[in-house]
Amino acid sequence: MPPQKLLGPCSVHQCSKNSSDFRRLTEIAYNKAKEHGALILYPNLQLYDIICFSHYISIVENYHQNNEKESEPELSSEGISLASKIQKMTDVFYQMQHKEFMDLILDPEEFNHCLAERDEDLNDFLSEIFT
Ligand SMILES: [Zn+2]
Repeated sequence: MPPQKLLGPCSVHQCSKNSSDFRRLTEIAYNKAKEHGALILYPNLQLYDIICFSHYISIVENYHQNNEKESEPELSSEGISLASKIQKMTDVFYQMQHKEFMDLILDPEEFNHCLAERDEDLNDFLSEIFT
């Protein structure tokens, strides 16, 4: 029996991909994305959410590939582990979205600034994870 085809919409906030192919964020996929920090960019995603195929690729699979290239845990220049920065960033996100009801910041510069303002350990964090 073929697996039942999932129907959208994509759970990614304001998804604009015109996809007809959807994937469920299984526990494995969700943890994979979480582990690599991909969920930070999509803080509204929950376990078992349905997302479009292109988002699934960029959130789950691409991060997985990146991880395979460098399996060593990264330390930032200040000696704070990437994981703890991600944790801090998640906290800031939670604060912004759930307590202050801020709109999603789409400008990377402004976003970086906003993070650094709240926690100086997060200064330049974005450029650190994306370079
Ligand atoms: Zn999508």
